[in-house]
Parts: sequence; C-alpha cells; structure tokens
Amino acid sequence: MALTADEVAARARNAAITIEDGYDVPGGQLYKWPDGSEEAILSRITDTLAAYPQLVTNLGYSWAKDRASYRTYGDAMFQWNVLELLAEVDPRHPNLSGFKPVAARQAINRDFISYAQPGRELHLIFIGRGFMDVLKYFMEMTLNIMDLAPGTHERSAWGPASLQEIRKRHNRDVVEIVNAFLDQAIRVIRGEFPDRHGPIRDRLVAAPNLMWTTYDAVESFIVAHELGHLLERHDVHDATTGKEVSADQAAISLQLARHGTQKEMFGTSLIATMAVSLGGPAFYLLGSLYYLISALEAWIRHKPIEPFIGTLASLKVRWFYYRKYLLDIGSPTLTSPHLIGLYRMVTLCMEGVFATSMWFNLKGVGKPEPFLDEEFVNMLWGDWLDDEIAIPEAPSAE
Ligand SMILES: [Zn+2]
Repeated sequence: MALTADEVAARARNAAITIEDGYDVPGGQLYKWPDGSEEAILSRITDTLAAYPQLVTNLGYSWAKDRASYRTYGDAMFQWNVLELLAEVDPRHPNLSGFKPVAARQAINRDFISYAQPGRELHLIFIGRGFMDVLKYFMEMTLNIMDLAPGTHERSAWGPASLQEIRKRHNRDVVEIVNAFLDQAIRVIRGEFPDRHGPIRDRLVAAPNLMWTTYDAVESFIVAHELGHLLERHDVHDATTGKEVSADQAAISLQLARHGTQKEMFGTSLIATMAVSLGGPAFYLLGSLYYLISALEAWIRHKPIEPFIGTLASLKVRWFYYRKYLLDIGSPTLTSPHLIGLYRMVTLCMEGVFATSMWFNLKGVGKPEPFLDEEFVNMLWGDWLDDEIAIPEAPSAE
C-alpha cells in the first residue's frame, strides 16, 4: 500500500532527530518558503515523476508531488535530489529490489549531522542545518575577498586567480574578513541561528553560479551519500570509515546516473557534473574546517577535542579515496577551475583560523604565543593541505 503525503510527513515529524535541539530559529522563519519557490520545486518534482513513471509505480513516490509531504523548502529540494538520483538507475538493479521510498528532510539542528534512518515502509534522510549555514558564511567570505580587488585580477570562475596578490596588497582586510567568517561560524556552532534573509542571501541569489556550483553541489553530494548508505543496506548504528568510503562511491555513481536524468529533463547535466567535481571535495574541506573550528571552540572551553580529531582523520581518508575513485573511473573533473578556486579559499581560511587563534591568545594572556601551537595544527593537517591545493598538471597533448 502506497504511503500518503500526510503519512510521510508524520513519520518524518516523529523521528527523533527532527527534535529541534536548541537551534534558535526566530519566529519560525525556516518554515516560510521563499516567494514563488513552492510552485517551482513542486512542478520540477511533478515533471520528474511524469518522465520516470517507475518512480511512482515501482518505487512508491506518488506522495512526493504533494506539498503536504514537506515542512521546509529544504525538504522539497532534498527530495527532488533523491528523485533525480534514482530516476536513471536501472529498475532491475539488485539494490533497488524491495527498496522502500526515501524521504529526505532538513533537520533543524546546529550540528553538522547528516543521517540515514532505515524504516520498514519509509527510509529517512536528515541533513543538519548548521553546516549549511557555515557554508553560506564561507561563501560570503569568498565574495568579500573577491570584492577587495575588483577588475584587477584575472579570475577563475569561482575565486580570485591571484590570491597571493590580494593577500599582499590587502592583507589586513583579508584577515578581517576571515575573522568575521570565523565569528559567524562559531556563533552557528554555539547554536545561534543566523538571519536567513540578510544581505548574504541577496548576494548569493545575485550570484547564481555560486549557488549551484557550491551550495547545491554540497547539498546534493550529502543527499547522494546518505542515499548510498540506504541502498547499500549499511547498519547505520555501526559507522566505519570503510562504510563512509563506500557510501561516497555510491554517491559518485548516483550522480553519474543523474547526468542522464538532467540531460533528459533540462538538456544539460551541469548540476550533476558540479555535484561530482565540487560536491565531495567541498564537503570534505568545509567539513574539516567545521570540525577544526569546533575543536578550537572545545579547546577554549577546556572540553575534550579527541572526537573532532577522529572525524577530521576520517574526512581525510574519505577525500583520498574519493579522488582515487574519480581517477580510477577516468573522471576529468579534478582539474576544474572551480575546485582550484575553492582550495585556495580554504587554505586562506585555514591561515585565518591560525591567525585568529594567535590573536585570541594575545588578547587573553598577553603573550605572543599561538593559542593553537603550530605542532597542533601540523598534527591535524600534516602536509595534507599542501598536497591538496597543489594544482594538478593537465595532461599534455602528445
Ligand atoms: Zn555516511
């Protein structure tokens, strides 16, 4: 018996992780859908279901076109991702045999949690709000840094082409911008909900390329990763790095299938391409940043930092295998200028974290010793970041 929209909404509501976990959402603003968004996303979902009828007949998604299935706009966006990822998968694929429908939902918490919860009639995916907010501020920081040198630099599609030069000429401004970002990120980690309709949102909307290259790519990677856990029938209570790597590889495969869906629906598969080339790497790098800031915050409060270090190490391993998998399947996406722009920004941010920790310490104890000493930073990162930001050589034509 197919589930109704109300039944799906009730199951999502009753799941433990939906409980609002102290993330302060002023005036219920998260539940107000942006103007015009409702029609747009619901008609996209309806079109996908019409083009791929097996999503309804075999996989049980008739409820997905109904507004009553969703609480936030994010819910509907994530659900659309799920449908596009599954649409081109061969219905005879063994992992789809007996596979229950998946409802993807935004969890209203500050943590960087994404979570798959298998169920008897309905599987659930939850994606925490906090990380997406940190990502938003990260992008604002990027725009601010790019604004420091308008028109004077050759630019890549995503970031300033000559970051060194910007740093040389505008170092103080850069540090201020990075500090503002760190301030916002720490506020999110402490559970303060940032203003959703502030100038950042307007700027992101005005720069639509940034929206789909980064924000959508990361969201879409996370949805595909959790869907991967469910399709692989992982025991979600027993997370290991091996399972995470396998869910990441499933995510790449699902995004590759999604190329077909998007070609069929829109004539271009740009979003799926970016979700592969930028989604995973941006997730690992920004995730690392998120946990590094969390560790800094814990350190300041004399709380244990080991869990964060464990997660950082796991992200490092996952990124390594992601890259390897892409190379193994012959993906040309690693040299994307978008990616290189992102690496540069993350490096800058890492330096910013280091500089800020020194400043905290100077302010706190009046001694010019770094709050996080260099050894600690090296322990976390080793030479990894240097390797990661090295621009890969394009293969020369022979
Ligand atoms: Zn996972």
